Amino acid sequence: MTISPKTIYDLLLDNFGHQHWWPVDKKYHQKQKSDPRFEIIVGAILTQNTAWANVEKALDNLKKHKALTINAFVHINEENLKIMIQPSGFFNQKARRLKLFAAYLHKKYQDDLQKFFSRDETEIRHELLSLRGIGPETADSILLYAGNHPTFVVDAYTKRICKRVPFQVLNDSYDDIKYFFENELQHTIPKKELVPVYKELHALLVKLAKNNCRKKKPDCHTCPLTRLCEKSL
Ligand code: SF4
Repeated sequence: MTISPKTIYDLLLDNFGHQHWWPVDKKYHQKQKSDPRFEIIVGAILTQNTAWANVEKALDNLKKHKALTINAFVHINEENLKIMIQPSGFFNQKARRLKLFAAYLHKKYQDDLQKFFSRDETEIRHELLSLRGIGPETADSILLYAGNHPTFVVDAYTKRICKRVPFQVLNDSYDDIKYFFENELQHTIPKKELVPVYKELHALLVKLAKNNCRKKKPDCHTCPLTRLCEKSL
């Protein structure tokens, strides 16, 4: 037996409801007249190798200093930035990456994220992957959640679930899993719904991995997929 991503999507959505990703402080950006998409970019870099709760603390520090804009990142002293983002861990590395990313957007796109995202998705992805510290997961998170481009995000949680649920994924590489989800969903979902479905499904898989499909001792008894899952315990 195999399961389709659409079946999983429907089951998880029924059980867990909408996850409202990517969380962005809209009120803050309305007040500051800043672009919320930059908060998503910063969050996608800060969340590398750390829990979201730590990212939130770093984002709160940045907001307190009204530093959540491309222009602020370009001009901020790197040592001060490290202090602000310290709760997210690996702050030396992340401060460097964020400064370089902001400098790139400033120089090439004049701080205009609309200009940056209003291009072909493949071209933007290629460009993102050429930047320091931006791997496939970060690039796809930025493209999907900040740019509203139809690209599926694969993370360690998705990889774990793919090993347990009977999906027809050929391999466990990032690209194989991404291709599998996109290929399946493109054939079952209208084109205009792909972006919201990719956003929601990724968030739902994270929820499943944290709630039930944990690394050690998965809680299969209360899992919405228990009847369909080969690895159900
Ligand atoms: S039934 Fe168990 S192994 Fe399968 S997805 Fe749910 S928690 Fe994971």
